[in-house]
Amino acid sequence: MNGCFTCLNCGKVNPTKGHSYTNKYCNNSCQQQHRSRLLVKEWKDHAGHTAWRQIPEYVRKYLIEQRGHKCEVCGNTTHNEQPIPINVDYIDNNSYNNVETNLQLICPNCKSQK
Ligand SMILES: [Zn+2]
Ligand SMILES: [Zn+2]
Repeated sequence: MNGCFTCLNCGKVNPTKGHSYTNKYCNNSCQQQHRSRLLVKEWKDHAGHTAWRQIPEYVRKYLIEQRGHKCEVCGNTTHNEQPIPINVDYIDNNSYNNVETNLQLICPNCKSQK
C-alpha cells in the first residue's frame, strides 16, 4: 500500500503518510476547501427548498470568491482603508428563496438602510 495518493481537493499526487484514512488531502486546508465545495454543490442542488436560519459561511465565502470582495449595493470594497465587512442578503427578503441569483453581497451600512 506504500506509494502515492491523489488529493481529493486539488488533484495533487502526494506520497502516502501515516494511516490510510489521512491519505485523502494534502493538508487541512485542502480538506476544508473540498468540504465547502461539497456544501456549495449541495446548496446549489437544493436551493430554494430549505430556509437557512442564517446564511452559511461557505455561501458567503463562495459568493465573495465568485463576485469579488465588494458591496453590490454601494460598490465599496474598503472602509477606512480596511476591507469592508461583507454580509449576504436576500434581494427579495424571502429567506426561503436562497437561490444564488437572489443573494447579494452587502455591507453593514447598506443593510441598515434597506
Ligand atoms: Zn490538495
Ligand atoms: Zn454598501
